[in-house]
Amino acid sequence: MGQRQAGGPKLRYKDVIKRHLVTADVTHTQIDSLASDRKKWRAIVEDVVVQTDEARTAREASRQDARRPTTEAEAATHCHICHCPFAALIGLRSHLRAHERRGET
Ligand SMILES: [Zn+2]
Repeated sequence: MGQRQAGGPKLRYKDVIKRHLVTADVTHTQIDSLASDRKKWRAIVEDVVVQTDEARTAREASRQDARRPTTEAEAATHCHICHCPFAALIGLRSHLRAHERRGET
């Protein structure tokens, strides 16, 4: 996500929007006719952008949740400052650096 495959073409913003429109059930043949009605077109594009953004945000949140321990039993360690559970020490170290940056140590 966000990076092109090896040997793949660089995509313009327009190309990405076209791909997203296809995922929102707007076919390539419909694009030209829909684009002739500017108001309708803008509404469609805005909807697609919002849907795509929400889907991306949900995907990122679920990936983030997958990295976090779901139960206290799965937690290998906890932050001594805010008591957040961590499955791995590397996550705890990164979290502690964030506390340091905020001057909370
Ligand atoms: Zn903490």
